[in-house]
Amino acid sequence: MEHLNKKFFYDLSFEELETFFIKSDLPKYRAKQIWLSVYKQGISDFNSITNLPLSLRQLLSETFTLERLEVEKISTSKDKTKKILVKCLDGNTFEAVIIPEKDYFTVCVSSQIGCNMGCKFCCTGSQKMIRNISTGEIVMQFLLAKDLIQDWKKNVKKLKNIVFMGMGEPLLNLDNVTKAIKILTSPDGLAISRHHITISTCGIVPNIKKCAKDLKVNLALSLHAVNDVSRSSLMPINKKYPLNDVLKACREYSLLTKTKITFEYILIDGVNDSEQDAKKLVSIISGINAKINLIPFNAWDGCDFATSKENKILKFSNVLKQKGYEILIRRSKGGDVDAACGQLKMRNL
Ligand code: SF4
Repeated sequence: MEHLNKKFFYDLSFEELETFFIKSDLPKYRAKQIWLSVYKQGISDFNSITNLPLSLRQLLSETFTLERLEVEKISTSKDKTKKILVKCLDGNTFEAVIIPEKDYFTVCVSSQIGCNMGCKFCCTGSQKMIRNISTGEIVMQFLLAKDLIQDWKKNVKKLKNIVFMGMGEPLLNLDNVTKAIKILTSPDGLAISRHHITISTCGIVPNIKKCAKDLKVNLALSLHAVNDVSRSSLMPINKKYPLNDVLKACREYSLLTKTKITFEYILIDGVNDSEQDAKKLVSIISGINAKINLIPFNAWDGCDFATSKENKILKFSNVLKQKGYEILIRRSKGGDVDAACGQLKMRNL
């Protein structure tokens, strides 16, 4: 991404930064100095990196932009979940969500502006796909979250988890997502553990396999139905990658990465929330090292679905618990601030 002929610094991998120094006939150890200043101290202006010579600071300022992206809007819910609308250099906007847990924070990042997967229950899916989010724009979501909740000087790991569960399908922007994860996990920088990163996918089978080889982060699968007919009607991608293939890829992912798969299941009234559905769910994921997140559907303007009744949610979860699964009923955080992905942007359009 470029702005006024300057490159967006956060798009650069460490190796690319080193290459810049080598090509400019400058000592490459400077790359590490800059990396530490930007990602360990949160500096967002080359002139503030005072251990660099003035001429180098000038060269860097002329070549790269290190400024934060603008936060156009922040909505804070009663439970302190913050949803931010980030404005890109090209004027497009996307969302990130900062979610408080008991003693740490999770940031939910977006990977595409819009999405063309067309999942029927999803607000983002009803918005036009504009473009992939760049590597630097993904990294930026984490930095903006850190600016909002944490003092950079105090090296406490308050912002611990990153989940790719915002707008878009991360496995359809895998190059940028992979590069961003390498920056986020760089030991000389933000040093996030891969065990604290989760990618959620609607089931792009070939890229699940790539991810198992290259990233080994946690994987969450948006399952939401227990047979092909129902899943294809909710999620058109199921026609291309049917349930059997997706579950096989998840099984292999778990074995190869030695991680637990999270199956996400949105409970929609009268659509997928019967006890029969719960029993079928248990049978189709049998043998996969997994936990299950049940998500009562979060209604948004213009959708045709309703949230499951409370007694049905409990019955559904009891069937799974009896089979020994770890269950989380994920009540929508920030329900009063357009918590479903894509809602804040939708309201701003
Ligand atoms: S659920 Fe994910 S993949 Fe499906 S439309 Fe929404 S953003 Fe896209």
